[in-house]
Amino acid sequence: MAKIISGKDVAEKILTTNIKPKVDDLKLKGVIPTLVVILVGDVQASASYVRQKEKFAAKAGIKSEVRKFSETVPEQEVLDEIIKINKDSDLHGIIVQLPLPDHISVTKILNSIDPSKDVDGFTPTNVGKLFLGEETLVSCTPKGIMLLLESVNTDLKGKNVTVIGRSNIVGKPVSILCQQKHATVTMCHSRTKDLTAKLSDADVIIVAVGVPKFIHGDQIPMGSIVIDVGIHNVDGKLCGDVDFESAQNKVSAITPVPGGVGPMTVCALIENTVIAAERLSNKN
Ligand code: NAD
Repeated sequence: MAKIISGKDVAEKILTTNIKPKVDDLKLKGVIPTLVVILVGDVQASASYVRQKEKFAAKAGIKSEVRKFSETVPEQEVLDEIIKINKDSDLHGIIVQLPLPDHISVTKILNSIDPSKDVDGFTPTNVGKLFLGEETLVSCTPKGIMLLLESVNTDLKGKNVTVIGRSNIVGKPVSILCQQKHATVTMCHSRTKDLTAKLSDADVIIVAVGVPKFIHGDQIPMGSIVIDVGIHNVDGKLCGDVDFESAQNKVSAITPVPGGVGPMTVCALIENTVIAAERLSNKN
């Protein structure tokens, strides 16, 4: 029987054993870790993600503020707000909820965030540090995936990991993290030929493609671990990039959708905010 890796349970455990004690220590020093979320426009999915982040922040005992802007806000106004937050020593984490409207440059916005407050780990400085293996704020979904693998005691040393999807926010960074754990990583993407062959000797498969039920059980080697990053609403029902029904008969462990990677992304964000608060308060 496949083990279902519950991101919800792992997140709760990390909250209790790791995040809350750090928050308590910071509060004793008079520091309340504070996250600012910048939300532009009226994207329903974004609003829902932001609510999940606010809920977990409240559970952790940290402060979160949402700064909302209209769909037509000039880019400079958002940049000015970020510069203000960068300078405010009471604020420790900044995230800009993506997507942004077309007239706003994501690159310009992300580049304006102070890397020490970049709790999404999206700035060039933090991405570069991750690449170099230096201490940094690691982007949340890849960090969450690594915590999920740790939760099932997966030692990646010498293992074959196949990552499907090469996005900057999931595929590329998670491949670096797996290599740092001494895995042999195969990267697959939209131009990969014979994807099924690339999966045939995988011990771990990480799927971040953005296509509902893209990977099926018949493509998955027996006994592998599958991390399903995708999240889709198909006819009112949530599903991932993996066809869970057929996959669960092949795997030794698999993440469900919902309740797998999603809660871990939120957990990693809140943990990053606490880490940022610790580092910034040590500097002051
Ligand atoms: P993206 O669209 O930026 O990248 C998708 C990647 O998949 C690309 O690199 C592309 O080359 C690859 N791809 C597309 N078609 C392919 C094919 N036929 N064969 C092989 N590879 C193919 O997506 P993303 O931002 O990495 O997100 C992927 C999925 O994960 C989406 O469903 C997204 O909603 C979800 N997601 C979930 C979380 C979470 O916290 N649960 C976080 C981030 C993303």
